[in-house]
Amino acid sequence: MPGPGGRGARSFLTEEEKQNKPKVTKELLLRIFSYLKPYTKQLLLVLLLIILSATFSLLPSILTGKIVDEGLIGRSLSALIRYILLSLGVTLLSNLIGVAESYLNSWIAQHITYDMRNAMFAHLQKMSQQFFTSASQGDIITRMTSDIDGVEMVVSSTFTNILTNVITLVIAAIAMFQKNALLALLGIVIVPLFALPTRAAGKTRWTLTRDAQATNDQINGILNETLSVSGQMLVKLFGREQYEYDRYESLNKKMIGLRIRESMAGRWFRVVISTFAGIGPMLLYLVGGFLMIKRGANLTVGDITVLVALVGRMYGPVNQLLSFQVEWIRSMALFTRIFEYYDMPVDIENAPDAIIPNSARGNVEFSHVGFAYEEGKPILKDISFKLEAGHSVAIVGPSGSGKSTMVNLIPRLYDVDSGCVLFDGTDVRKLDLAFLRSNVGIVTQETYLFNGTIRDNLLYAAPDADEAALIEACKKANIYDFISKQETGLDTVVGNRGLKLSGGEKQRVSIARILLKDPALLIFDEATSALDSISEQAIQDAIEPLIHTRSSILIAHRLSTILSADEILVVKDGRIIERGQHKDLVALGGVYTELYETQFKIEDD
Ligand code: ADP
Repeated sequence: MPGPGGRGARSFLTEEEKQNKPKVTKELLLRIFSYLKPYTKQLLLVLLLIILSATFSLLPSILTGKIVDEGLIGRSLSALIRYILLSLGVTLLSNLIGVAESYLNSWIAQHITYDMRNAMFAHLQKMSQQFFTSASQGDIITRMTSDIDGVEMVVSSTFTNILTNVITLVIAAIAMFQKNALLALLGIVIVPLFALPTRAAGKTRWTLTRDAQATNDQINGILNETLSVSGQMLVKLFGREQYEYDRYESLNKKMIGLRIRESMAGRWFRVVISTFAGIGPMLLYLVGGFLMIKRGANLTVGDITVLVALVGRMYGPVNQLLSFQVEWIRSMALFTRIFEYYDMPVDIENAPDAIIPNSARGNVEFSHVGFAYEEGKPILKDISFKLEAGHSVAIVGPSGSGKSTMVNLIPRLYDVDSGCVLFDGTDVRKLDLAFLRSNVGIVTQETYLFNGTIRDNLLYAAPDADEAALIEACKKANIYDFISKQETGLDTVVGNRGLKLSGGEKQRVSIARILLKDPALLIFDEATSALDSISEQAIQDAIEPLIHTRSSILIAHRLSTILSADEILVVKDGRIIERGQHKDLVALGGVYTELYETQFKIEDD
């Protein structure tokens, strides 16, 4: 019998859940089924175990008839002992089968969720940059973890609970009808009469508990706001003590009302349960006794005892099945949410007949490129330029003009809306993605290092690189001096996101990482935030020689970087408005001149 409060909050839907009820279609069910299908054999075995365990668990109730009739009324000690031992035996057996069932159940549930997690992770890895910039990270993590955990619950408990309950009810009903049809009917009618009020009382209690929780949250909010150092200062300075007291007092009053009603709802709940639980057996004794005494029905004392016992066994399953709809809706909502993620289109994919060239030279061409992150808000407009292999170009312009966006189009973090980006003369959308990305190296403004050692971070780009290669890359990136001064050298831990290194050191580690990747095209997105001049010089010394060894695009904010490029493109509001050499651009008296006057010249001086 369920205790007061029963299965609590899980038995009722919240308003939010009611409003977002998932649409259950044949496709959805088939799709869910497709995840169960690989485990059909195991599922059938579970079904068999459930049937066995439910049957064996009801047998003792049925055996009470024999105990009463043959043992007690028949005054046979040997029969009594026989049935008692049998009864204990099947109880043990039923429990042992239950253990096997739980094991198999959790095995199936874990394997199904294992499959789903892997599929989800693989799918998310294919999603474009656009997805990760717009979806909230919390949402992504929730779907990967708690939603899929929910599926595990559904498979391991909801499905089997439903089965167990249904099977128990069916077997109990059959056993009852075999004893006496009229009494069986009576018993079956009584059960829902008990279960329904239980549910109603449970719901009232649940609503009150929720209200109390909400009120409690409000009270905590007030306490946090007003009883903190700065909150109290605000209250005092604005003389709002009385106002805050009144606010607190009124919520406090609401709370005690709710708490009293909540405890009384629990009280009434118990009255309802025990009354109805008492009525059932008494009715059966009354009617059964009447049939036996007055009508001479073919009924024994044992039969009536069995019927009473079986009705008692039905309350639990009926009660649980009444909240079945709730569990069903929740489960479907879970699957719907997960499938929603599976169905998100992968917008940047390898072309079916993708070209894999033998080698990369590093030519880049933008031809009338147009691009927008959101429809109707064009970020790049008619961008055209050419970068010959081995040369370098600097892109300058006010912040937000679209410089980073331009370079993100080259390794296809995003795809153009119009025009095209060519790499070695081929549209990047026709090239093999792995080839393209392995030949484009970007050193981003915000360097991302994994929490691990410097070595781990370097090996991420080239897992097979040997010690000598690592050291050479670090030397070229001008970070080797720093590393060799560390006690643990390359095995120095960089901390979460590389927090244990300074901005400049992180940049140089990431340059070394790119060098190990050895791309044909190097893109360097210079940090806007000022580094100290020593760090800047160290970075400058690292990139300067590199620029001359391969094709490079430099998003530059410092004159020294700009001057090292073969050509300068000035971008404003998504257009290239000026291009050429430093000297000519300064003389032009346009945007470049302005940037030069306000930013670069100071550095120059
Ligand atoms: P820059 O590198 O020149 O500072 P960006 O290319 O970073 O400029 O950004 C150009 C414009 O695009 C900005 O207005 C910025 O707000 C917008 N933008 C950048 N990334 C996104 C994004 N993922 N989604 C929507 N808008 C973006």
